[in-house]
Amino acid sequence: MFEQDSQKDLREEVIAALIKAGISSPRLEANIILKYAAPLYPQITQEEQEKIKEMLQRRINREPLDKIVGEREFYKSVFKVNQDVLTPRPDTEILVEEAIKLLKEKEEGTVVDLGTGSGCILLSILKDCVKSKGIGVDISEKALNVAKENAQRLGIENRCIFQNCSWQQLEFAKESIDMIVTNPPYIASEDIEKLDVEVKDYDPRIALDGGKDGYKCYHEIAKLAPLFLKKDGYILIEAGMGQAQKIKEIFEKEGLYLEKIVKDLGGINRCVILKK
Ligand code: GLN
Repeated sequence: MFEQDSQKDLREEVIAALIKAGISSPRLEANIILKYAAPLYPQITQEEQEKIKEMLQRRINREPLDKIVGEREFYKSVFKVNQDVLTPRPDTEILVEEAIKLLKEKEEGTVVDLGTGSGCILLSILKDCVKSKGIGVDISEKALNVAKENAQRLGIENRCIFQNCSWQQLEFAKESIDMIVTNPPYIASEDIEKLDVEVKDYDPRIALDGGKDGYKCYHEIAKLAPLFLKKDGYILIEAGMGQAQKIKEIFEKEGLYLEKIVKDLGGINRCVILKK
């Protein structure tokens, strides 16, 4: 991997290896690898050099960089991530932004995040809405361990609780929730194999698989959301590409009213907002 030429700059060697592997931002990624593995670089220990080799090999095998370094920036914070959670995506930040705007109108409220994963949505909202409280729900206990650690890192563990169950098992009081947010699995099962290796091999399948047509979770959530939401409460739902219209219809059928559909920065209808 590294040429054993001590004269050569290690950073350049990492960059060259990343270019050879076809990684699209080799310089940026080399800097990140060095920052995590050898913070005092160019001062470097033997152990740090081994660490760099190991990280580089994982990246060459197409493991996403955030899973290798164990962190990912999302909205205004840095989140711990690992193989147990979906990597937070920039596309999801629009949902967070809209949720914060709506919650600030009410000043305070209780927010439920269905399929919280790393907790990135719920915790970003609570960080900005300092009077609000939250409940993160996930069927994966391992994911919730990550979410709990993120809550602690951000210093908001006293304003949120986590529940390890499927959403059908939820037992909130009727009409007790001000806002529901969710980025559920929405890829049609047969399309998962067509996804990029960095997604299909490294994000948990359970976080991606939306059943036969991709809409399984939307149907399930549409049945529950109206029961738990207070009158005038909102639900903000992330949509996969081309799914927003059908999601709107699924939720309207259960008696909710469309507030708006918001595009992400790529111009895709990404967030469907409905009101009870
Ligand atoms: N809520 C988390 C996120 O948006 C996890 C979503 C998921 O696992 N489908 O990143």
